[in-house]
Amino acid sequence: MKYIIITGGVMSGLGKGITAASVGRILKNRGYCVTAVKIDPYLNIDAGTMNPAQHGEVFVLKDGGEVDLDLGNYERFLDIELTSPHNITTGKVYRSVIEKERRGDFLGETVQIIPHITDRIKSCIREAAEEEVPGGRKADVCLVEVGGTVGDIESMPFLEAIRQMRAEMPEHDYVLIHVTLIPEDTMGDLKTKPTQHSIKALRELGLYADIIVGRSERPIGAHTKRKISAFCDLPPSNVISAATAPDIYAVPMELEKEGLADVLTTHLDLGKREVDTSWYRIVTKEYTNRVTVGIVSKYGIEDVYISIKEALKHAGRALSTEVKIIWLDAERYEKCQLKDFDGILIPGGFGKRGIEGKIDAIRFARENKVPFLGLCLGFQLATVEYSRNVLNIPDATSEEMGEGTHVIAILPEQEDVTNLGGTMRLGDYTSEIREGTLAMKLYGLNEITERHRHRYEVNPRFIKKLEDAGLVFSAVNRNRMEILEIPGHPFFFATQFHPEFRSRPTRPSPPYLGFVDACRINKKTP
Ligand code: GLN
Repeated sequence: MKYIIITGGVMSGLGKGITAASVGRILKNRGYCVTAVKIDPYLNIDAGTMNPAQHGEVFVLKDGGEVDLDLGNYERFLDIELTSPHNITTGKVYRSVIEKERRGDFLGETVQIIPHITDRIKSCIREAAEEEVPGGRKADVCLVEVGGTVGDIESMPFLEAIRQMRAEMPEHDYVLIHVTLIPEDTMGDLKTKPTQHSIKALRELGLYADIIVGRSERPIGAHTKRKISAFCDLPPSNVISAATAPDIYAVPMELEKEGLADVLTTHLDLGKREVDTSWYRIVTKEYTNRVTVGIVSKYGIEDVYISIKEALKHAGRALSTEVKIIWLDAERYEKCQLKDFDGILIPGGFGKRGIEGKIDAIRFARENKVPFLGLCLGFQLATVEYSRNVLNIPDATSEEMGEGTHVIAILPEQEDVTNLGGTMRLGDYTSEIREGTLAMKLYGLNEITERHRHRYEVNPRFIKKLEDAGLVFSAVNRNRMEILEIPGHPFFFATQFHPEFRSRPTRPSPPYLGFVDACRINKKTP
């Protein structure tokens, strides 16, 4: 097992996750099997209870793990499926060490950060790295991304564990890539001082960067590379320029052009291999069409819906259609704005705020035959809209939203949940698709598995009434409704699950493909 450690310098939000995922892709294009671990030094056990407006999307894994959005990047770039142990947090590490202490398993020892916490971190990394991949073997290479910035108090035990790992393995099995910022001054000169300082901070911890990836707005030239190389004790070839790319999926190509593949394979003693270029062909496919999709949500920031954005892009690429997204604030948009879209999407969400705006948008899409895709809360609100305006139940709502007729209700096994963390219906569940439906046309399968994250669902008492009024539940998991659609509408499709989590550039999600295709066919915008 080869380890590629990725640390960050100067500041967060540099695109360390995309850099890590791109490094992985470069090796995958050479036939290596790559897996990934993300370390998040916060005290939360997982991202499930964190506010996505602050922390970004909560990504959901097949095993129900609610994790950092970087795991989504790894899955998309590497076309793999990860599990919860691949996201290590301070909360998880300390919990397991403290549980062990309570059991008495430390046999009277004083339990300390070094060695007990650092040992646990190392075993967490190794266990995740060595988890079998499909086909029953282990990955060849594991990326380990340390969240945050070198120098943060919280990341100290993790960096110490990573320092110890280097001494415990052969030289060619370990490489440290430091991703740092190369800012521009007011004269337009690229400045290397922040990088020098962050390399110094690394050294104080006993860590040495083998490769520096410099993030900047424009490419870093030979002069700046030489300067970094001199100050940071690296050959200039190991200083890689990573200027902001127009599309994240182009980053592996950019890093490849910079010679990163050679530096990396030499360092890891991986030998030369032929490069499969199919990824590059897929992600650079030309657009011949463009559609505009309106997403009505209560969060203003795109990071909350990164998987949706990417899934639309994957479907768009496959159909040579550029998908332009307009974000509408569910509480503030004007109804006339809805006319400007080729399709309307209502994403997942929690709580009451903004739901009336979302329901209005769904009604507009249904009545005006505008392609509509509803996801999770979007599925539930489509049910509420249909109940109110077709079934004539004016106070129809979801139990989550308070008083009214609950056409969406709490799952029976959720009724006495006291802890909020990790207690929803999470991860992979299988549903059966009904013959002759749009769902069957899109998936071409009788049975599908998709990822879930919800507490509420269609109230069984209303299923028959809704169906008699024309709504079709085209996929079900026993008495749970998983997909709804309206026959005769160009595309009115909603899922209780989140198909975006399984979408890949190389394998777009069927509901997204159907939606973008319908937007293309019904296109109104110029
Ligand atoms: N709030 C809804 C529920 O808990 C929907 C969740 C979601 O959209 N992810 O069921």
